[in-house]
Amino acid sequence: MEAGKVTFAGAGPGAADLITVRGLNAVKEADVIIYAGSLVDPAIMAEARTDCEISSSAGMDLGVMVEAMTEACRAGKTVLRLHTGDPSIYGAIAEQMSELDKNDIEYDVIPGVSSAVAAAGVMNAELTMAGLSQTVIFTRRAGRTPVPKGQDIVSLSKHNATMCIFLSIGDMEGLVADLLEGGFTNETCIGVVYRATWDDEIVLEGTLADICPKVKEAGITKHAMIIVGDVLRRAGNYSLLYNAHFSHGYRDGTSKKRKKAAAEQAKD
Ligand code: SAH
Repeated sequence: MEAGKVTFAGAGPGAADLITVRGLNAVKEADVIIYAGSLVDPAIMAEARTDCEISSSAGMDLGVMVEAMTEACRAGKTVLRLHTGDPSIYGAIAEQMSELDKNDIEYDVIPGVSSAVAAAGVMNAELTMAGLSQTVIFTRRAGRTPVPKGQDIVSLSKHNATMCIFLSIGDMEGLVADLLEGGFTNETCIGVVYRATWDDEIVLEGTLADICPKVKEAGITKHAMIIVGDVLRRAGNYSLLYNAHFSHGYRDGTSKKRKKAAAEQAKD
């Protein structure tokens, strides 16, 4: 009997129609699905075969999960490991793969729509606007998981690039303090999207000066994407568009620069 393989797939940020076609096909075909419990829409799981063995990864440690995958593959079954968003970002797939290597189990990856780009979409934002930012940093604040030297928020803020910050809504005050220390200003735009693309999604936009009370008032303490950078100023944020600081910057010639940059981009 031929051994089965493990497919790591992204389920997308939330909305059931934001899984990829390839991901959904894998859901329909899998013999076994291990998935991130409450973070995958039941409508996606409803596409699984009626005889598919489905379990939640919530209560499993690495050893238990790899054992379950290995056993199923050795029995000739195909295993789908569904992650939220895209599996390559904070999905801890590397360690699962290393363990599967030890067991000679094959695997592949189906990408997914990360919450970073889903949150940008929700805010109608372009993360890489000519003249403002040509770089996007995907990062997190150090929590129980430390970050390597040079990758703390203060250091990364010095680039003045757009930042998509995962796993960090728990200490908004600390995060904002780090961003300011790194060189962003009170006027820098910031967006917080709680449960992007789910029915109970909340979108907050503001500046580093006023975002903390907004987050507090909305009661958001987990499961939010934070996007920092002035690319958000053009993202439908009219209240900011008309604030004194912005119109000053705009009249200062930004619009001319923007037209020139757009013309240059059109040539590419
Ligand atoms: N692989 C996932 C990230 C997993 S880490 C991805 O690509 O999106 C979990 C963190 O992702 C959460 O703490 C939150 O910061 C973010 N996140 C995941 N889904 C989200 C959603 N629907 N809305 C907002 N943030 C989300």
